[in-house]
Amino acid sequence: MPYRAEYIWIDGSEPTQLLRSKTKVVPDGQELPIWGFDGSSTNQAPGNESDCVLRPVKSIPDPIRGGNNVLVLCEVLDTDMTPHPSNTRAELIEVADRYASHEPWFGIEQEYTFFKDGRPLGWPQGGFPAPQGGYYCGIGDDEVFGRDVVEAHTTACIESGLEISGTNAEVMMGQWEFQIGPLGPLEVSDQIWLARWLLYRIGEDHGISATLNPKPIKGDWNGAGAHTNFSTKEMRQSYDPIIAAAEALGKNHDEHIENYGAGIDQRLTGLHETAPWTEFNYGVSDRGASVRIPWQVKVEGKGYLEDRRPNANMDPYVVTRLITETVCKDAEG
Ligand code: ADP
Ligand code: MN
Ligand code: MN
Ligand code: MN
Repeated sequence: MPYRAEYIWIDGSEPTQLLRSKTKVVPDGQELPIWGFDGSSTNQAPGNESDCVLRPVKSIPDPIRGGNNVLVLCEVLDTDMTPHPSNTRAELIEVADRYASHEPWFGIEQEYTFFKDGRPLGWPQGGFPAPQGGYYCGIGDDEVFGRDVVEAHTTACIESGLEISGTNAEVMMGQWEFQIGPLGPLEVSDQIWLARWLLYRIGEDHGISATLNPKPIKGDWNGAGAHTNFSTKEMRQSYDPIIAAAEALGKNHDEHIENYGAGIDQRLTGLHETAPWTEFNYGVSDRGASVRIPWQVKVEGKGYLEDRRPNANMDPYVVTRLITETVCKDAEG
């Protein structure tokens, strides 16, 4: 029997790229072919030369359709088979290969906000819920909204082989987080994009959308980030390389901020467990720092650091590339 392959790719939307997908019915036993799409409808090509190419790069079991069906992450190529300008994955591969001997690992905390009827899930119509305080890791029908979607998403990630490592309700009502990793830069990034796709897709079945908007509600409400935990082989063995990595990130702060997601100035204000985007600092246990060294890491004298700056709407191919390059280039002197 033929099976269905959902070809998933990242479009050319600005300032934040979005996910797209379409279904290919593939004859049983046939390998996943290269495919195409109308790039003029995704901000990836002009109308008079609209064809873009989809090259399958990672295929996982489709936990929604089940059976032999698969989800297929694709890179977007031009018709001459070179990476399309919107294809940030190709650039990451180059950097990941260059610094592979450092064995970089990433664990990404993807925060997001559920929306229904134009407002965050659980929020009263035309007003505000009780101020933040009880929602983070909360329990109970008055604190937590959307848990059924979170559970379905986690199950789907596990069934499809994605390395989801946890979930929690976040500080703002209707806001949640899942973590992927630790994994190498390419693998964690591919999995973040696939996990995002699954989140949106499962949301459809519940009439709930998820947004990665870094500051969905202005004012005294937490934004949504994508804390990026990072280590190299050297950092996992001793403490000095962790400090060196934090220092290296500080020297390259501006380039990172520019590429950590649109609207980062809205989120990194210095309030709500952030450091202002105009400054860099790091500290042990400090959730008001740009980069945090977890307390156990300090105690054990080895481990990893947490870059707290990336927005929820960041591109993991870009963020993991920049961190790998900044830290490993510095380590090599
Ligand atoms: P927080 O206390 O900031 O909410 P989380 O538990 O949400 O932390 O996320 C911590 C992340 O750090 C997890 O995704 C985990 O996989 C990742 N992590 C743990 N050890 C390492 C390591 N050595 N290198 C990179 N990431 C790591
Ligand atoms: Mn977390
Ligand atoms: Mn969080
Ligand atoms: Mn964190």
